[in-house]
Amino acid sequence: MNGTDKICVFCGKPPTSKNKEHVIPQWLMAHTNVMDNNVRLGFDKHTGVIREFVYKAFTFPACELCNSRFAELESIVKPILLKLLSESPLTNIDLHYLLDWFDKVRVGLWLGFYYLDKNIGNITPNFHIQTRITAHDRMLHIVKVENIGQELSFRGCDTLSFHFTPSCFSMTINNFCFYNISSPFLFARRIGFPYPSKSYLRKDGLADYSIEPAREQIVRPLLLKPFAFSGVGIYQPIFKSLLRKEYSAYCNNDYVKSNSLSFENGIGNIFIHSNGKVIAYPSDPALDWCPSSYYDRISMNPAISIDTLEQQLHLETLMPSTEKLPECDKNWWKDALCETRRYANGLIKTMKNNVKEGIS
Ligand SMILES: [Zn+2]
Repeated sequence: MNGTDKICVFCGKPPTSKNKEHVIPQWLMAHTNVMDNNVRLGFDKHTGVIREFVYKAFTFPACELCNSRFAELESIVKPILLKLLSESPLTNIDLHYLLDWFDKVRVGLWLGFYYLDKNIGNITPNFHIQTRITAHDRMLHIVKVENIGQELSFRGCDTLSFHFTPSCFSMTINNFCFYNISSPFLFARRIGFPYPSKSYLRKDGLADYSIEPAREQIVRPLLLKPFAFSGVGIYQPIFKSLLRKEYSAYCNNDYVKSNSLSFENGIGNIFIHSNGKVIAYPSDPALDWCPSSYYDRISMNPAISIDTLEQQLHLETLMPSTEKLPECDKNWWKDALCETRRYANGLIKTMKNNVKEGIS
């Protein structure tokens, strides 16, 4: 895999009946009126030139069959996201599908930038959209933005950190900004589910875990690093990877069962963190997801980009240990993480300097 081989963003195989996937869906571009606008996608890591695309041309390879299969998710999520953007009540199931959609967009953007940067970190993607939807603990932090004008933008996808571990990005859609984070057992321990006491990175990029029994109680906050902007947190624990026989005893208890949307599929409830409380989100339509206060759009830039990068750097500190890897792989990760920090800190410094000098 050299970053120029064509693979389907959904299944990871060479695309059959080749098609193109808009990782940012066309209906959303139309809704935010950006279809013909230029979108800035960081810069070319090989030439240093700033990259700009017309939004509607931001497409990547996909199989025709995969594309039509995932169009179903788009048709489910479109009315949900439109309701959200008009500040209408949503159910826990609506939020479950919305989290699925953010998994799809996040992994789609990751593979998109993998192509754009011609696989700058020389990685082999070990998952694709199909295998990464509803796969691990996931959350949205929703921040309300002053309602002036339309916007569709995303942040944090052009970093080396995202290239190595696509766990966190942020996206602004009109008057809402969403931080999206997903990672194995991200908040399992603090939400009272079975959790790993130790995790070890494997050669294939996945990890082995030493699992501990559920503590059956919620500990706030669910994530230790606070966000720069206050808002409402939506959390969903996913324990699919513990459905295997050797782990089943850890999940088979009343706490996990009563806090699951689908216990047999390893899918936890939707929880909401708002006003200092973490509770199960209602199954009837509710406005609980909507933050009560908003931020001025101008004051959020570039703080939101800096915060996204800092969240990524924090997530790197939670990575599984490399101690069981062969020496050469340990050194590879050490160098990669050192480079991601250097790169992110350079970007953060540039953004802060631009603010000082009044450059947008
Ligand atoms: Zn495919």
